Amino acid sequence: MQQILPKLTEYFRPRSVATAITLLSKGKGRRVPLAGGTSLALSTSRKITGLLDLSDLKLRYIKESQRSIRIGATAVMKDLCKHAAVDRVAGGVLQQAAHAVGATPTRNLVTVGGNIVQLFFWSSLPVALLALDATIRIQGKSGRRSISAAAFFRSHPKRHLAFHELVTEVVVPKTSSSCGGAFIKFARTHTGYAMLNVACVLERRGRACHNVRLVIGAATALPFRLRKVEDLLENAPLTPSLLEQAKSMTAQIVKPVADMRADPEYRKEVAGVLVKRAIQEAWARAAQTQAVSGGRKRRPTASRKRKSSGGTA
Ligand SMILES: Cc1cc2nc3c(=O)[nH]c(=O)nc-3n(C[C@H](O)[C@H](O)[C@H](O)COP(=O)(O)OP(=O)(O)OC[C@H]3O[C@@H](n4cnc5c(N)ncnc54)[C@H](O)[C@@H]3O)c2cc1C
Repeated sequence: MQQILPKLTEYFRPRSVATAITLLSKGKGRRVPLAGGTSLALSTSRKITGLLDLSDLKLRYIKESQRSIRIGATAVMKDLCKHAAVDRVAGGVLQQAAHAVGATPTRNLVTVGGNIVQLFFWSSLPVALLALDATIRIQGKSGRRSISAAAFFRSHPKRHLAFHELVTEVVVPKTSSSCGGAFIKFARTHTGYAMLNVACVLERRGRACHNVRLVIGAATALPFRLRKVEDLLENAPLTPSLLEQAKSMTAQIVKPVADMRADPEYRKEVAGVLVKRAIQEAWARAAQTQAVSGGRKRRPTASRKRKSSGGTA
């Protein structure tokens, strides 16, 4: 049996991002960041000689501003699952994706940074972040840079992260009150690895869909957008026949890989069904969000009315 990290001799726990980057730089690729450790704990790499524990970098946060939600790289899935602002983004699509990551003990450990850097083809968060048009913030010895989720997941993230770079933050734009979303993980059990993941984010205006973003994961090595299906849905009334077209178009587009969980033909068929379901769920959530925000807008008027009628009486 292969040994876990057989060449490991160093452990660091830096207290600032700057120190972490200096330590990574000096390691010349032999030292790596340690986040939740759920994937590193299984690594048999002979290249790694040092671990940099990210726990003290103060990157475990979720901050809400007017336009976006900033999530620190060491925030864990549990943090996303219970945060009200995360719940409000596109009907809770990011929260659903975080909840799909294994069981509770796993969600207590897995970090946002670890989940997106160590991309497996069945990973949950990257699918939702692509659908939400998120931005990834990175810091290294040459400074800071930001990269769109689309660019980050175009190839395996480890390919375009330099050895001295850290993912520090993920920025998720807030969505409008006409926006809904859905994330569906299809697996044998809730805690199993996904056979397919689908995320859908859309705006509901009248009877039509707008700004549709549909992403499929676990079909191929990298998650990708179903742009043809998005175009089909754009500005179109969401009828049962349109949903059927979206379903069959998805089955035609997706060219899934085979693995021990499912063969490609089965995955193709299921992909269409999941896409249809995700669109329906996103559509329904958009209606809920509209109803809630409509209610919020009406509330002050109602209280003003009560006040004024009280005054008159
Ligand atoms: C039983 C089990 C079930 C799981 N099920 C799912 C699932 O259904 N869906 C899903 O998406 N995930 C699932 N996961 C989690 C997934 O497999 C990875 O283990 C996890 O995403 C890694 O995150 P981590 O924080 O533990 O990272 P670590 O293991 O600490 O690190 C992973 C890699 O990323 C690098 N890294 C970490 N953070 C940073 C950073 N900020 N900047 C740069 N590099 C960094 C590390 O150096 C390392 O190379 C499951 C895990 C387990 C153990």
